[in-house]
Amino acid sequence: MKRVIALVDCNNFFVSCERLLKPELIGKPVCVLSNNDGCVVSRSNEAKKMGVEMGAPYFIAKNQFKKVIFLSGNLPYYCEISKRVMDKLQDFTPDIEIYSIDEAFLDLTGLRKTFNCSYEEITERIVKDIKEEIGIDVSVGLSYSKVLAKLANDKAKNLQKTLPDKKTYKIGYRQIKEELKGTLISEIWGIGRNTQALLNKYLIQTAYDFISQDDIWIKKKMGKIGLDMKQELLGNSISPVIAGDIAPKSISRSESFKEFQTDKNYIQEQLNSHIHKVCKKLREENQMTSCISVMLRTKDFQVENIKLNLAYPINIEFDLIEKSKEMLNQIFKKGVIYRSVGFCAYKLTSAETQQISIFDSNQTLKKQELLKSCDKLEERFGRGIIKLGILNKK
Ligand SMILES: [Mg+2]
Repeated sequence: MKRVIALVDCNNFFVSCERLLKPELIGKPVCVLSNNDGCVVSRSNEAKKMGVEMGAPYFIAKNQFKKVIFLSGNLPYYCEISKRVMDKLQDFTPDIEIYSIDEAFLDLTGLRKTFNCSYEEITERIVKDIKEEIGIDVSVGLSYSKVLAKLANDKAKNLQKTLPDKKTYKIGYRQIKEELKGTLISEIWGIGRNTQALLNKYLIQTAYDFISQDDIWIKKKMGKIGLDMKQELLGNSISPVIAGDIAPKSISRSESFKEFQTDKNYIQEQLNSHIHKVCKKLREENQMTSCISVMLRTKDFQVENIKLNLAYPINIEFDLIEKSKEMLNQIFKKGVIYRSVGFCAYKLTSAETQQISIFDSNQTLKKQELLKSCDKLEERFGRGIIKLGILNKK
């Protein structure tokens, strides 16, 4: 089957993370430095425009670019934000391959039906959700193979220089040849310097020149790798998206409010709905959680997070909603304006090997049976058909 593959890449990731903490850096030329302030590893668009090079040594750049703000890197913090982004991507599909701290391939094949919209619209939703819920800008390239998705992503980034809102780019079948004509072989992901030199020697300059070569020639000069590359460039996926272990696994839900909120009851209601969805997912996957967190995000993208270890693993709304109320109480501040609330279940264990707590085991079993039958009804009649009393209780 033809695949539909997206590459999601965070823009200027480390700088974007710093701006989440320090919004006053927005709009200013900012660079983040590597370990021990050695060299530049992330640049804001403003710093790029001024001409700061990627990898520039700090001791030179700081004299050359006096107006640029240079920051020491904070990798643990970037990892935390990265995890939030990847978790959010997992809400779209479990077929996600984390390629680096700020990049992931997603196999979207077949998801048009699930989301009831086009693939382009799915990618637009990815951009919007990650911006709204995490505060990070991402670009998404969409096509039929990893190599083309990567190329589409580069195109999106290039277009952003003149069209800042152009966050997604699709290379459809009809565009492949045109796109490849305008792309140097050296710009193709996976083509190293040696291969480039070899191909240039035979006057192959663009990616289109390359796919125009016959298979026998390519095999002779480059072996199977060359043939695979040609297929990927033609839109036939050879290298699949391989979902790796995303450890520690977690299931989370978060969503921006329709309007900014100061009302705790409203926020709790939204939180209850997230808890319901997370529990439903846990039951579907036959899993339980023994650690939960509630996250509140303010209008200005400040995050309040609270975690709670549970005495025993569960996957039941009733208990988790009770616990979440106390958690929300602890982080909610009167008068503060909020934009979203989120719920996350960590430390997942299989429900099958689960020993029901020796306390009220009958109660727990009954609740689980009830909820499983609710899930089934929801499946048959559509989401939201059942409103559990507790979900709306203030
Ligand atoms: Mg990036």
